[in-house]
Amino acid sequence: MLYHSSRDKSVEVSASEAIVKGLCSDGGLFVPEKIPYLSLDEIVALGNMSYSERATEIFSLFLTDFRKNEIKDCTGKAYTKEKFETDTIAPIYKLNDHTYILELWHGPTCAFKDMALQILPYLLTTSMEKTGTDKKVAILVATSGDTGKAALEGFRDVDGTKIFVFYPTGGVSEIQKLQMQTQEGDNVGVYAIEGNFDDAQSGVKKIFSDNEFKAKLRERGYELSSANSINWGRLLPQIVYYVSSYAELVKNKEISCGEEINVCVPTGNFGNILAAYYAKEMGVPIKKLICASNSNNVLTEFIRTGVYNKNRAFVQTISPSMDILISRNLERLL
Ligand SMILES: *Cc1c(COP(=O)(O)O)cnc(C)c1O
Repeated sequence: MLYHSSRDKSVEVSASEAIVKGLCSDGGLFVPEKIPYLSLDEIVALGNMSYSERATEIFSLFLTDFRKNEIKDCTGKAYTKEKFETDTIAPIYKLNDHTYILELWHGPTCAFKDMALQILPYLLTTSMEKTGTDKKVAILVATSGDTGKAALEGFRDVDGTKIFVFYPTGGVSEIQKLQMQTQEGDNVGVYAIEGNFDDAQSGVKKIFSDNEFKAKLRERGYELSSANSINWGRLLPQIVYYVSSYAELVKNKEISCGEEINVCVPTGNFGNILAAYYAKEMGVPIKKLICASNSNNVLTEFIRTGVYNKNRAFVQTISPSMDILISRNLERLL
């Protein structure tokens, strides 16, 4: 499986290169050349496996330059009861006969970002070995709150990596700020910036496309990479819980095999719901994807009207992780 740039089909890199680079040098995002398909039988069969085994199966379809035992090693280290409190890793709570809540907050930082950021460091270090880089990786992260803490926790003291997190002053909740500012680890850095999340994200993007700066870093032995959901290694682990949940619901006889479900996702940078879209394209019987926004409803408006207009007032809400006007992952969908 090769990966193209969302802006240039002639770009072709392996999965490990896509993960190490994070963002394509033309500013595009890496997208898989095709979406693998799972039959209903294959999806339902996942129900008899542990969460890490399910992840191994799905990762194998996308990370074709990884050996199965390398993938197993990554998933086995990341998805443990020790880290996620529960054997099922992502338990499903039944609200009523027709509504279920996927509990993605059992990881070490209580954010659903842990589902991906607990495994990304393993995927990244394995990818670095594969691409034969002699460099260390400096991870840059823009955060509206949850990603920052989850990324810091995932990468702290991981050999060969350093991580730098940029968050908007006043744009994250008090607890998130405290979580980040008290982060432990010898390879971590946390910076408050003036502006909102979009400014943080644009600033990080600017650094990524500054070739002079990157050359200087290279001289000092560092390559840049990203732990934001623009990195394929962030998005892929999120596909797993949608496929896994369907298998789980069938196994528990909550739905019949083949019955369609709707999936509703609170949305900011369009990563989580995009993972659900990939799961649907892979064959999971998902009927509707419901994109939930807060008052920064640029995405819901885009989906309703076809017009994406980021020129509007930025509203600070009580759900800062959704206070985003420039949803980077939408480019992958388009
Ligand atoms: C990250 C996050 C979101 C937004 O997810 P995207 O993948 O950026 O769309 C929404 N809510 C919470 C609590 C989050 O942590």
